[in-house]
Amino acid sequence: MPHWIDGKPYVGAEDVVVPVENPATGEVVGQVASATPAEVETAIASAAAAFEIWSEYSLAKRTAVMFRFRELLVQHTDELAEIVTREHGKVFSDAKGEISRGLEVVEFACSIPTLLKGEYSDQAATGIDVYSFRQPVGVVAGITPFNFPVMIPLWMSPVALATGNTFVLKPPTRDPGAAMFLAELWKEAGLPDGAFTVVHGNRDVIGRLLTHPDIAAVSFVGSTTTAKHIHAVASEHGKRVQALGAAKNHAVVLADADLEHAADNLVAAAYGAAGERCMALPVALVQDSIADELVARLTEKAARVKVAEGMTPDADMGAIISAQARDRIVSLITSAEREGARILVDGRGFAPEGYEKGYWVGPTLIDGVTPEMTINKEEVFGPTLEIIRIPDLATGIATIQANPYGNGAAIFTSSGEAARTFVRAQGTAGMIGVNVPIPVPVAWHSFGGWKESLVGESHIYGPEGVKFYTRAKVVTQRWPHRADNGPVSFHFSGDASK
Ligand code: NAD
Repeated sequence: MPHWIDGKPYVGAEDVVVPVENPATGEVVGQVASATPAEVETAIASAAAAFEIWSEYSLAKRTAVMFRFRELLVQHTDELAEIVTREHGKVFSDAKGEISRGLEVVEFACSIPTLLKGEYSDQAATGIDVYSFRQPVGVVAGITPFNFPVMIPLWMSPVALATGNTFVLKPPTRDPGAAMFLAELWKEAGLPDGAFTVVHGNRDVIGRLLTHPDIAAVSFVGSTTTAKHIHAVASEHGKRVQALGAAKNHAVVLADADLEHAADNLVAAAYGAAGERCMALPVALVQDSIADELVARLTEKAARVKVAEGMTPDADMGAIISAQARDRIVSLITSAEREGARILVDGRGFAPEGYEKGYWVGPTLIDGVTPEMTINKEEVFGPTLEIIRIPDLATGIATIQANPYGNGAAIFTSSGEAARTFVRAQGTAGMIGVNVPIPVPVAWHSFGGWKESLVGESHIYGPEGVKFYTRAKVVTQRWPHRADNGPVSFHFSGDASK
């Protein structure tokens, strides 16, 4: 697979080539080459040249590109979703779902003229007006994880581009095809060549992006270890950084919850996308008095999840991204069993008929988990649902507070009072759901976790995205009449009475 540089595919040297697999079959469906230092240099130079052109486009012209891109994304959703299913393994309907969440951010970016309106103080001092506005920062890099190959580049690039920056994307090597398709759509939408660039590769390529003097800002989404590394290196080199990390999200289910609603939502949020979502819900903190009943419903529903190759009609859940990821998930399930938990539904060793060479784990339900168990301490990133039984809401909140991650947390209850206590609790998570299992904010709010789920300050997309990709400038201006010219003041404060 080529890179995308200067508005076209760029076939680089193929010194280091990584195979791209279809996780459902284990077959190699492509090859991706890691960019050489010279190729990264060429990509950044092209993005820097495009910045001179694109940043001068009027807001009206930039908005027109955003609207055209939106239309193209809608038109090509099925093709793009097929690429995602082939390289990632998630089911086709879920791949379309991630595109529609990305589309929301494009729609947000369509309103960029409103979002970039500055502020104006008329006659701040006599004859003096003051105004502020925001300018793009320059060439920005985006480094993205495998689990949302469309949505996460769309959390970044529409906002970065609409605000006048140019964007260099380093997609994951495991499912890079969607990034190339997006590049084609941006070109067709009228984006100048070089404004959206794709370079493939791993550590060496990212190292160049993090240290290159012409990269002004870096957006990263992925594991916490990498987020910390990216944040440290890019900050040291004077760049703005937004770095979102891993997660371990919990739901509290209280005795007064609608149990059928809670069970349906827990199953969908734990097993959807095979649990490979940073907002998946792998832990349910269930109040003792209803735990047996809820677990019975979950057992029955988990067993009914349809696991199949992603293009299979009505499939609920697909394959796991790689053999390595599958083996890690299986070993965490085994650790829970060894440490005394009960595996009620066991997905180890599962494979749909005819797909035995692919990478699979079936839905797995684990009861009797305690916070100290290995499985609860690690981000599983697989189709597991752990049940931890709790006496009350306070214990549920304390368990979430003790969890090092803080992306999302949810509560299922019919009590407004309990929900309000949960929402207002300190030290839990950055995104809270009330009877909503996966509270990913809509595009005009920003997305971001707390604690180990976010390194640094900046949340992504929405108003915080606009702020991240721009910097403010404040202008103090006077247009004096010749006749008004008096002596200038040597005092810092000036003479406001003039
Ligand atoms: P990852 O950290 O392994 O990789 C993310 C990106 O960083 C990839 O492009 C990869 O090529 C690159 N990378 C990997 N190791 C690197 C290194 N040592 N130095 C520099 N770059 C490196 O993450 P992943 O496995 O692709 O994605 C899964 C992780 O992402 C999970 O932990 C998940 O929770 C997290 N995630 C978080 C969010 C969020 O919003 N907080 C969203 C999606 C995924």
